[in-house]
Amino acid sequence: MNILEVKDLTKTYGTGETAVQALDHVSFSINKGDFVCIIGPSGSGKSTLLHLLGGVDRPTSGKVLIDQTDIYDLNETQLAIFRRRQIGLIYQFYNLIPILTVKENIQLPMLLDEQKVDEKQFKKITEILGLTSRLHHLPNQLSGGQQQRVSIGRALISNPAIMLADEPTGNLDSKNSEEIIELLKMFNKTFNQTLIVITHDERIALQADRIISIEDGKISKDEVIRQ
Ligand code: ADP
Ligand code: ADP
Repeated sequence: MNILEVKDLTKTYGTGETAVQALDHVSFSINKGDFVCIIGPSGSGKSTLLHLLGGVDRPTSGKVLIDQTDIYDLNETQLAIFRRRQIGLIYQFYNLIPILTVKENIQLPMLLDEQKVDEKQFKKITEILGLTSRLHHLPNQLSGGQQQRVSIGRALISNPAIMLADEPTGNLDSKNSEEIIELLKMFNKTFNQTLIVITHDERIALQADRIISIEDGKISKDEVIRQ
């Protein structure tokens, strides 16, 4: 089943002489449960693509369907709710809220929608992430690797259709990077959580099921590594 379908996606920033075509009619689809890496040179359009998949920006034209929902057909309020429930986003610099505890940061997407937190699921996720003794700490009391684990927890808490990560290990040393990738792969393989990762790191890309290469706003290569 296709959990994600991208159709003719185009994004132009600015107008006139300063217009930049960051994405140029990109189309592809992704099967539920796949681990896909997106690679490509700096400025090729990777972050733009991930933002459009994540519903945090709007395309100039084209469609993004997540679990059959055409997300840019939704109005702002509907899209915000859809994003919190169905899309888990992980950033290079964690984007945690500094005045909230680890527990509050992880539960935030649920609290914003006044949804009940499934305490059993919360416990399971925080145990797997090794955060049980850190739940009442603030982000700045944690190491970088721990902060990234909190952001993974926040991305997973609503059991989203897809997880999107933009250079999730870009700010970590190699030991912490490996740990974060192992955790993401564990949720991908054990819980069939679809995972899309932008990375510069070839060692990470080679662990994916499929590698999509972007150049100049277009897909230049799309390789299945393992079935
Ligand atoms: P990558 O993630 O592959 O480095 P980006 O998606 O960030 O690439 O950028 C693709 C192109 O779009 C680049 O030429 C970049 O300068 C341009 N771009 C990205 N964001 C903006 C923006 N907000 N305004 C104008 N141009 C942008
Ligand atoms: P790492 O070995 O991953 O670089 P650190 O040396 O930064 O980690 O931290 C070691 C441990 O000390 C971690 O478990 C972290 O949670 C804790 N720690 C680091 N800084 C603080 C702080 N300001 N307050 C409380 N605990 C902290």
